[in-house]
Amino acid sequence: MTSPVARPEAGAQILDAKMIVGGERVDALDGQTFDVVNPATNTVIARAPLGGAADVDRAVEAAQRAFDGEWSRWPAVERGRALHRFSGLVRDHLEELSQLETANIGKPIASSRGEAESVANVFEYYAGAANKVFGETIPVTKPGLDLTLREPIGVVGLIVPWNFPMMMASWKLGPALAAGNTAILKPASYSPLTAIRLGELALEAGFPPGVLNVVTGPGGTAGAAIAAHGGVGKVAFTGETTTGQEIMRLAAGNVKKVSLELGGKSPNIVFADADLERFARESPYSVFDNCGQDCCARSRILVERSVHGKVVELFAEATRKVVVGDPTDPATEVGTLVSFKQRERVVDYIQAGLEEGAELVVGGRPPEGPQFATGAYLLPTVFDHVTNDMRIAREEIFGPVVAVIPFDTADEAIRLANETPYGLSGSIWTRDISKALRTARAVRSGVLSINCNSSVHTEAPFGGYKMSGIGRELGMHALELYTELKNVYIDLG
Ligand code: NAD
Repeated sequence: MTSPVARPEAGAQILDAKMIVGGERVDALDGQTFDVVNPATNTVIARAPLGGAADVDRAVEAAQRAFDGEWSRWPAVERGRALHRFSGLVRDHLEELSQLETANIGKPIASSRGEAESVANVFEYYAGAANKVFGETIPVTKPGLDLTLREPIGVVGLIVPWNFPMMMASWKLGPALAAGNTAILKPASYSPLTAIRLGELALEAGFPPGVLNVVTGPGGTAGAAIAAHGGVGKVAFTGETTTGQEIMRLAAGNVKKVSLELGGKSPNIVFADADLERFARESPYSVFDNCGQDCCARSRILVERSVHGKVVELFAEATRKVVVGDPTDPATEVGTLVSFKQRERVVDYIQAGLEEGAELVVGGRPPEGPQFATGAYLLPTVFDHVTNDMRIAREEIFGPVVAVIPFDTADEAIRLANETPYGLSGSIWTRDISKALRTARAVRSGVLSINCNSSVHTEAPFGGYKMSGIGRELGMHALELYTELKNVYIDLG
């Protein structure tokens, strides 16, 4: 399966996207651009500036100017009000943002609408949090008064992936701006359009120029320049684990604060006493949502052997019912992968699964029909009789592929769940609350759910153990990622 060359649609208008630097809509300094492609139609829909190190320098200067200027004198409550206006503007432009995202990455329109709504909710949450970032007084041994101050770090670099472009941006922007930092947001090259629109809406919301800058361009140049820049005090990154490792190396130069949300290989652990019908009804979405391009995807089903056959049958039946189709159709549940290149990568994994002896139960190929001919579609795919040492059980596929692995005892389930370098999320299905809690305590993951698949709550911490990341986004904990803690001791003598 090869990647066809994308071209503009005859007669269609191509969006001339610009970066946002110091409140201005600008091209890259050297004038270069890159094509932005709709993966469902394989057409070029926009041209975006191909930013590089010089553009990052310019953005860091603008962000530093903003940090030193008016912004630093804004009381926290004013930052909160601006975030509230930002949230309102996202709601006002919900349909526009959703259509843009769907056209850009092949995400079903219903999911894009859900994502845009969640962005508005995240900004609303941090609007309320802005004036709740405070220190403490500490009874130290000496007789004076000891107090702590929570202060913004300064210029922060926010590097985000293409699978949830707006949402990942909001998880970083919300707490960063609430805490009084200025930011440079770099979207992934596949998905620059909603980040640019967020930059424009931030200006409309009244954030001073330079508080939020958006630099588009490749990770290896623009992204690396942000991660290495001496003027950036912190880098927050979401993406692949290997990129996260590179960011840590680049950030070492000026000992930047680093927070990382990386890959996953999360388990769905199904015990024999679980509500198996409910598991099968709800769980296809835990791995096939966003075409499997989800860091929290439950891409391994660990199932107790006595119900293995029944669970595979129920899950396969539910998977066949998942509606794959045109991302712009509100009934579509699974659209396209982000690109043909990504589809090739996933198809290679399907091939590896077959070669390693796993049994293909559902999918494993693109859907048939003329309506699927132009897009990077792939059917939801279920492999049974997988062992934890196969590549499809070990590596993050980032596509609509799930591996079913049977187990005999709870201890074995926990061992298999933890036998991965990742530790992001997971679910536990059982009617026995003690077993559920024992398992939840033993699984080395940052976010777990019991008898459901939800991983993300705006108000609760989100992040990974082990090679799934460093730090916790969302909730009040995220503010710690964007503040320095200063201790001040006052001699009262
Ligand atoms: P990626 O690592 O390829 O790219 C992410 C971002 O980093 C992009 O903006 C990219 O341009 C930039 N980048 C790439 N190389 C860089 C470098 N050398 N220096 C600086 N920046 C660089 O990831 P992706 O393919 O866009 O996203 C998919 C990955 O993201 C998956 O592994 C997925 O699990 C992970 N993810 C994790 C979470 C989480 O919260 N844990 C959420 C979503 C996605």
